[in-house]
Amino acid sequence: MTAPSYDTDNIFAKILRGDLPCHKVYEDDATFAFMDIMPRADGHTLVIPKNASRNMLDVKQADLNAIMATVQKIAKAQMQAFDADGITLQQFNEPAGGQVVFHLHMHVIPRQDGISLRPHTGEMADNDLLATHAQALKEALEKIG
Ligand code: 5GP
Repeated sequence: MTAPSYDTDNIFAKILRGDLPCHKVYEDDATFAFMDIMPRADGHTLVIPKNASRNMLDVKQADLNAIMATVQKIAKAQMQAFDADGITLQQFNEPAGGQVVFHLHMHVIPRQDGISLRPHTGEMADNDLLATHAQALKEALEKIG
């Protein structure tokens, strides 16, 4: 199958353009990180490339490298900010692979021993709570340097 082309009106493209709000955690020249609006665990963060890319199947190698560097930064910050015991990374490609939003993103999820991920309920998290979590991550990133 040939994957469809990139849709510039996807939700994450709109967030990148500033057309939709988000709780930003971090950005650099190539990547952007923000809180998932329906977190599977407290601190669930999404890392995306700034360049247009549908998923792992069309991303440029340089963007992929940049994403992974940011994923590592966020993961380390989550270990501190959420006193996590571990980190789960998830990434889905095309509908058959579980992808819902078609701008490449890595899920970075802090984990606690013995605690399962919350199920997908479609319910959005409390806005103030997401803001608090984003702030905690920003402070941890500053401390790590
Ligand atoms: P995936 O495409 O990897 O299956 O899932 C997309 C992810 O994006 C889900 O975890 C969902 O909660 C998150 N998401 C969907 N819409 C929005 C939104 O408008 N803002 C934010 N911050 N996250 C979103």
